Parts: sequence; C-alpha cells; structure tokens
Amino acid sequence: NAPILELTDLRKHFNLSGGRVLKAVDGLNFNVLRGETFGLVGESGCGKSTAGRTIMQLYEPTSGSIKFDGRDVSKLTKSERIKFTKEMQMVFQDPYASLNPRMTVGKIIGEGLEIHGLASGRKRTERVAELLDAVGLNEEHANRFPHEFSGGQRQRIGIARALAIEPKFIVADEPISALDVSVQAQVVNLFKKLQRERDLTYLFIAHDLAMVKHISDRIGVMYLGKLVEVAESDELNENPLHPYTQSLLSAIPLPDPEQQKSRERIILKGEIPSPLNPPSGCPFRTRCPHAMDVCAKTMPEFKEAKPGHYVACHLY
Ligand code: SF4
Ligand code: MG
Repeated sequence: NAPILELTDLRKHFNLSGGRVLKAVDGLNFNVLRGETFGLVGESGCGKSTAGRTIMQLYEPTSGSIKFDGRDVSKLTKSERIKFTKEMQMVFQDPYASLNPRMTVGKIIGEGLEIHGLASGRKRTERVAELLDAVGLNEEHANRFPHEFSGGQRQRIGIARALAIEPKFIVADEPISALDVSVQAQVVNLFKKLQRERDLTYLFIAHDLAMVKHISDRIGVMYLGKLVEVAESDELNENPLHPYTQSLLSAIPLPDPEQQKSRERIILKGEIPSPLNPPSGCPFRTRCPHAMDVCAKTMPEFKEAKPGHYVACHLY
C-alpha cells in the first residue's frame, strides 16, 4: 500500500518564557500507509498529541514536512486546503469536553455537512440518522444533548461527527483513555468496523502499548519527542529492539502463566527527564539498562535494523 501520510523530520518546538524551548516533537520520520492503523505510543508528555495536532494543521510545524496524499500540506492552494480539511478529521480524548453542551447531537454531527455544503435540510437529517446508526446509536438520539449520554456514547457521537464529511484519514488522540474499561473494547471494535466499511486510515495515539497492539498494523514508540522504534505490530511484540520498548512490553501481563513466569519485568530507573532539558546523546540513556559511553555523546540514528523494523539505538 502506498503511503497516505509522509512525515519528514517533523519538528514542533514551543518558545516558553525565559528563552526556554520545549522541543515537544523533535524530528519524526514515518509514513502511514493507506488503509492501515498506525499506533503512536509513549508516556504522557512524550509529544504524541502534539504530533497528532501538528499533522492535523492545528499547530504550524517548526520545521520538516508533512505530505498527505503525495502533496506537501504547507504548499496547498486555498481550494486544496479546503479539500485537505475534509479528508483529515480528529477524534479527541475527552468526549465530555469535545462536544458543545448547548448543541443537539444532530447539530453537532451535521455541522460539518453544512459548513462544507454537502447536505442541508432533510438530506442532512437523513445523513445524521445514517451516521448515528453506523456508530451504534439511533436517529432519536439526534434531538438530545451531549449530557444525556454516557462517556462511551459521547465518544460514538464524536466519531460520527468525524465521519460526517467522509474523511480518508482519522487522527484519534487517546480516544478510549477516558472511558471505562468495560466500554473501551466496544469503542475499539467500532473503530475497526468503520475502518473496514469506509476504507479509513487511522493514526491511533495512546499511552498504553497493550491497548494499541491489538488495533494497530504498525506501531511507533515515542520517547521525549522522538521516535525510538517503528515496526509491524507482531514484530514489535515478538522482537522489540529498543530497550524502552522492551521495558514497556515487559509490563504487559501475558495470558499464559507459564510464559509469564519466564519473563522478567524490566523496571526502569529514574523518572522521564524534563523535555525542557533532555539528556545529551540518546534521550533514553538516563534510564537505559544497556547505556554505554557512546550513548552520552552521540544521538543514535533512526535506522532500519531489519526490513521494515526501525530503531534508534547504538546497540544495533
Ligand atoms: Fe540505551 Fe544507548 Fe541504546 Fe540509548 S543508545 S537505548 S542509552 S543502549
Ligand atoms: Mg496527550
């Protein structure tokens, strides 16, 4: 499959008071292939949400390039930009904060149709009913307000809103983190069903590797604004190369107790360093069980260690 999204050395830095610079996203290189789910994982503060928002053009990149459908998004003409905003939509983490409490569900979902001139009047009502049905709600829900729904139902409304203008690509920023564990799997299954039915490509952002490993075709692991590893989901789970990925995986319980016994939990020393003052060389070196002299001096390059499996670590 051809890439739908190509990031080259993407950076997003924020200038803070006192001349400090927060390098939230600091040199991302990865592609998302048409029709796949690319999981982007990392602890909070690693820059994954900033990456998602920069890709969505909610932030202007500090440097680097974003290509969508083969076009550099910084060089779009006005009409291409309108088309672009129709093709890429976002689902947010907090289904309570992201829906306007004063608008009916029908208005929330149908707003994009109106803005883009795709449907109005009765056609819009029909389209909203179809979208509610697609996300497991029903047309009577259109006249109600967000507060009348549970967290899981609200996230379904957020998904219906994102789908209304038939995007090709959805950035889902921790879309199930705020939900009860009992409804998380239902919402994940909904994402999968919609992907099959509508040829969608997802960038699925999460802090929990256990959560993305089931939904993702490929996974990228971020640490302090940088990607440390990218591989197909199965490959990453079976042969993690980066010591950080190895520690994240070691924390996920295995279903087989025999396997669990033979696996050692890798506990990292220390805390994540402040992204305002990252370590020299490899950003992970202050917590890495395998750190060597070279790790303090030189930043490891992000390179292909095996076909399709990329890692930034001096061990490889
Ligand atoms: Fe650890 Fe060095 Fe590899 Fe960084 S480059 S992950 S410090 S071994
Ligand atoms: Mg976040």
